[in-house]
Amino acid sequence: MFKLQELIRRNTDRLAMSITTEQGKTLKDAQGDVFRGLEVVEHACGMATLQMGEYVPNVSSGIDTYSMREPLGVCAGICPFNFPAMIPLWMFPIAITCGNTFVLKPSEKDPGASIMLAELAMEAGLPDGVLNIVHGTSDIVNAICDDDNIRAISFVGSNTAGMHIYGRASAKGKRVQSNMGAKNHGVVLPDANLDATLNALVAAGFGAAGQRCMALSTVVFVGGSKSWEDKLVDRAKALKVTAGTEPEADLGPVISKQAKERICRLIQTGVESGARLLLDGRNIMVPGYEHGNFIGPTILSGVTADMECYKEEIFGPVLICMEADSLEEAIQIVNKNKYGNGASIFTSSGAAARKFQTEIEAGQVGINVPIPVPLPFFSFTGSKASFAGDLNFYGKAGVNFYTQIKTVTQQWKDLPSGSGVSLAMPTSQKLT
Ligand code: NAD
Repeated sequence: MFKLQELIRRNTDRLAMSITTEQGKTLKDAQGDVFRGLEVVEHACGMATLQMGEYVPNVSSGIDTYSMREPLGVCAGICPFNFPAMIPLWMFPIAITCGNTFVLKPSEKDPGASIMLAELAMEAGLPDGVLNIVHGTSDIVNAICDDDNIRAISFVGSNTAGMHIYGRASAKGKRVQSNMGAKNHGVVLPDANLDATLNALVAAGFGAAGQRCMALSTVVFVGGSKSWEDKLVDRAKALKVTAGTEPEADLGPVISKQAKERICRLIQTGVESGARLLLDGRNIMVPGYEHGNFIGPTILSGVTADMECYKEEIFGPVLICMEADSLEEAIQIVNKNKYGNGASIFTSSGAAARKFQTEIEAGQVGINVPIPVPLPFFSFTGSKASFAGDLNFYGKAGVNFYTQIKTVTQQWKDLPSGSGVSLAMPTSQKLT
């Protein structure tokens, strides 16, 4: 893992260029994709203590009990398109460090970074057969779910695929950790730092063209902060939309024509159900890339919880603005949403922040932090429809996911001969 870490660092630019070319995000963002994955490799380098078992001597006279964490065997990972380096790196470094072999299925939309990472892993000395890559879509995913030799599946992607995989693989007795869709809310209180909050909303709403599972796709303005919408629009308008390889790009295209159509349709449903379109990026023309799947920053205001554009994950550069009269009402809005990936509050009040962190139902909570993705010694979590399974990715939970516990009870004492046979259940208590 140390060698792999070094090789990934040395090949960051090459990996980032592959990501930008296949996926479309800006080069700087693609480097972030690699660095976030690299953090997991670094975490795996120091993971030995997390794999330690437990030991209790003399649980009964001359008897000790200890447990060991052992690998499961063959594990598999199924990846989405939006982080072609980071998400494979959430999976195989941990699984392999725990002693498993791994079958990785990258997204069919951008498999290049996975291949490069596997080549680097081989160069780092990983033996043949430890990390394997398979390509394909539903058929290959179903084969992974059904294969008796595969013991655990890590999935990241949409709810449709995630719940299908969770159901099918669990029915075959496999462990599954399934990270799925999101609708992350940013709750803005009037006492927040105006400038920093607007910058955070724009960066987290439109970065990677909104194609991050932790993108802040919904803002809930509380009380007087409603008047900030105009300033938000001004900042969003200033963003440069062009190919990710262009040095001045703030956001690139979305992944496909179908994705663009879906996003535009959801924007239209918002308009038709009464939302105000403060900024419309649907008809943007990008000189030199006229056929690209670009959508400019789009802002819908006055959105309510019953609208389709709010209920569905948009996964594009669209920021939805809602309003609440109080923090309580804002928390209720967030908690009623079916997803629970991330939620952030922007405020200068410690009491409000504390109330928010306690009452909010989301896996990752940010306090004046728009994209609160933790470093990998914490786990990446998720609640409600954003996660299925019970052991999260990386951190202690990640190690527990890829290992099983074996408990050994040993007896080393001189046994008197002629003590006879007892068929009673052995216990540490004296039977009367
Ligand atoms: P997707 O579900 O379309 O694809 C993910 C993987 O599942 C791919 O490898 C694909 O081949 C496979 N797949 C797709 N449909 C399938 C089906 N019907 N049966 C079996 N396999 C199927 O997701 P995507 O569009 O690549 O990624 C975007 C989604 O991923 C968004 O919903 C986003 O929120 C989510 N995501 C979540 C997290 C998280 O940690 N919660 C992180 C990144 C992305």
